[in-house]
Amino acid sequence: MNHSLSKATLLTLSIMSSTAMASHWSYEGEGAPAHWGALSEEYKTCQTGMNQSPVNIDQSLNAHLTPLKTHYTDGPITLINNGHTIQAGLKNTTADTITIDGKPFTLQQFHFHAPSENTVHGKHYAMEMHLVHKDANGAVAVVAVMFDKGAANTELDKLWATMPEKAEQNVNVTTQMDLNALLPAEKMYWRFSGSLTTPPCSEGVTWIVLKHPLTLSAAQLEKFSHTMHHDNNRPTQPLNGRVVVE
Ligand SMILES: [Zn+2]
Repeated sequence: MNHSLSKATLLTLSIMSSTAMASHWSYEGEGAPAHWGALSEEYKTCQTGMNQSPVNIDQSLNAHLTPLKTHYTDGPITLINNGHTIQAGLKNTTADTITIDGKPFTLQQFHFHAPSENTVHGKHYAMEMHLVHKDANGAVAVVAVMFDKGAANTELDKLWATMPEKAEQNVNVTTQMDLNALLPAEKMYWRFSGSLTTPPCSEGVTWIVLKHPLTLSAAQLEKFSHTMHHDNNRPTQPLNGRVVVE
């Protein structure tokens, strides 16, 4: 028996398990959403927060919001499988912005959840895309786009073609992508205050959920679900008196 090999194997295993402990959260088992708040002091807002996301959008107040203004010219340059989602990254100097209350928010990254995290009148969509933006003060605004099962989305195919199959794989996106093709033409939306839907579940996030869904094909959905191995949606959280406006 090779004693030194087994020692090396043990060392490797202990390093692996301590790494796993540091980012223990997941969507299943001991790291499931119901336990996020107890996993780490840093994650306690997941349990104690009163303005958590996602939510079920049921009643909304008509505030006559005008359609969302997006200014997207750059496509993504990277695509990472971080084990929780597939996330596309922009160049640091990207000019991709949205305007909220007259202020510019710059696109940081976008990623996907299947099934959807937010629900509408209790309905889950097949997939939800989150475009995460920040303003100059670090305030976060997320634009959510819903996808129903239907016709294939050709722009999504460009991303899906290079989807990293294994966790912690990172690839460069070399195909030119038009982000506007991943947005509905009609940009009416529901707006509310919420949180990040993953630990540390930080609050003060402006949520903009576009009302008009896009479609993706069953094969496109299957490719994402197969790569993730499991659903990656946090269950909906109580509104606790929050008002959704439209
Ligand atoms: Zn998300």
